[in-house]
Amino acid sequence: MDSSYSVPRRLRRVLMFLIVLALCGLLGIAIAGEWKSGIVWPEPPVVDPGPVGGPPSDAVVLFDGKDLSQWHGGQKWLVRDGVATARGGGITTKQSFGDCQLHVEWASPSKVTGDGQDRGNSGIYMMGKYEVQILDSYDNETYFDGQAGAIYKQSPPMVNACRPPGQWQTFDIIFRAPRFAADGTVKQPAAMTVLHNGVVIQNHFELTGSTFWHKPPVYEPHAAKLPLHIQFHGNPVRFRNIWVRPLVPIVGKKPNEPGKSTTPKETP
Ligand code: MG
Repeated sequence: MDSSYSVPRRLRRVLMFLIVLALCGLLGIAIAGEWKSGIVWPEPPVVDPGPVGGPPSDAVVLFDGKDLSQWHGGQKWLVRDGVATARGGGITTKQSFGDCQLHVEWASPSKVTGDGQDRGNSGIYMMGKYEVQILDSYDNETYFDGQAGAIYKQSPPMVNACRPPGQWQTFDIIFRAPRFAADGTVKQPAAMTVLHNGVVIQNHFELTGSTFWHKPPVYEPHAAKLPLHIQFHGNPVRFRNIWVRPLVPIVGKKPNEPGKSTTPKETP
């Protein structure tokens, strides 16, 4: 046998073997068939995400730099050059929200005064009851479950992602409202995921109740939707670009049991 032909022949055999193997694989997939969940989903609505930082096209804009007309108490705050500065008391939305995604930009005062809880203190109260702390936590000691991004006195942020005083910062809060049974007991606690300047600092933390300074957390049954509140704690914290998106789960119908598809391949 001419040894110069033996190598290509061997190569041909290997190639043939690989082709047969691939065909067997494809045949196997064809015989197994496609698995289907049996759920018929509606098409997810199209949302224009807008510029970086939003607001997306389906957001409720709560402050776009012009005025605080979406808020009770907004007339007390100073609105100038697209920025709202806290003074004279807190502000509360006229509209109510339950499950939602909230975007807020805030800045603690450039001129540092006070320390601990007296430096750049404010807060975002989801449903007016569950506070995500706003504080100048850049090189500022305080109790950890009271620093910026803490769910007040329940959960410190996982990391401190605070920018220096005076710089703009973002909070993106994904909030799930608590569910109460008819007898007032908690069916499902409130939960929050928080991103501070794009960094996850709370990961679906389940709250043990409303947040207080002077008493332990407690749940009191309340409506499915309630207004948002921004705290005034004596410090001129500034705000801009505030918007919220109510979160509505997509619900499918289930006319069929899950199982193997009997029709030709449907899902690309
Ligand atoms: Mg506060």
